[in-house]
Amino acid sequence: MTDESTAGDREGATEPVEDAAAVSDAFATLGDETRVAILEALVEARRGDPEERALTFSELRERTGIDDSGRFNYHLGKLRGRFVEETDEGYVLSYAGREVVGAILAGTYDTDVDPESEPLDDTCPFCDEGLRASFDAGEVAVGCENDHTVMRTSVAPSAAADRSMDDILSLAARQTYTMIELVTGGVCTDCSGRLDREIVPTETELSIDYAFTTTCRRCGAFTSSSAGAAVLRHPAFVGFCHDHGIDVVDRLPWTLPLLTDGETTRTSADPPRYRVRVEADDEVLDLTLDERGVILDTERTTS
Ligand SMILES: [Zn+2]
Ligand SMILES: [Zn+2]
Repeated sequence: MTDESTAGDREGATEPVEDAAAVSDAFATLGDETRVAILEALVEARRGDPEERALTFSELRERTGIDDSGRFNYHLGKLRGRFVEETDEGYVLSYAGREVVGAILAGTYDTDVDPESEPLDDTCPFCDEGLRASFDAGEVAVGCENDHTVMRTSVAPSAAADRSMDDILSLAARQTYTMIELVTGGVCTDCSGRLDREIVPTETELSIDYAFTTTCRRCGAFTSSSAGAAVLRHPAFVGFCHDHGIDVVDRLPWTLPLLTDGETTRTSADPPRYRVRVEADDEVLDLTLDERGVILDTERTTS
């Protein structure tokens, strides 16, 4: 069985860097209350009726509360083609408009979750001390008092507004698995740019020997996880776990031995090949990876 994940890949291609003037222009466009009010009116319309979310020129002007039609038209013109689209039914948010509004909504909630860390029932896979979880400024972190971090990732402050720490952690886990699905396919989770992926030896004293790292050619975003993460979303791994009664989606990352147990070995130097081994009951699943973490082969054996 072979698999080549190429969703974001085109060898040797370089990513165009955004024109700095265009980026600052996009930000400047939003630096005006009337324009933000127009985006808000379009969000309100969508919230009111997702099926009939388009507003005509006069509906939009009315909802924005601007009497001067010329002035309104000027500001709408600044948004059109970038954050707002004109359709046959009227005006709607464009892709960038939805993203901007989503980012504003995600970041502007007050959360009741105490930024002080909370103890968890689980112990650290590296030293057996108790794990603690904290959530602060949009970042959730789980670790022990010996500075072993088993998860650190971003969660929108708005998502924390009506969730307990347990709920935040399970949301963070699902987001992590979704991100892994994208990055193992070579796609940046921040900007959809193409990623350089590499399996590298780790230099920590933990039991993890190899890390799966990704660097975005477009925005520079960097991720690093244990090499086992590269197989997490592979059908062979998900199916193997399912056959042994393990729901991968439901598990918090530090309870998956695959991510903490050093189950990755290098089986060949030239060409570089790595083997991730997963064991459950009396069965073993071996996945063979190349230097970019692409799974070349899988094998199940009964011991
Ligand atoms: Zn520890
Ligand atoms: Zn990127």
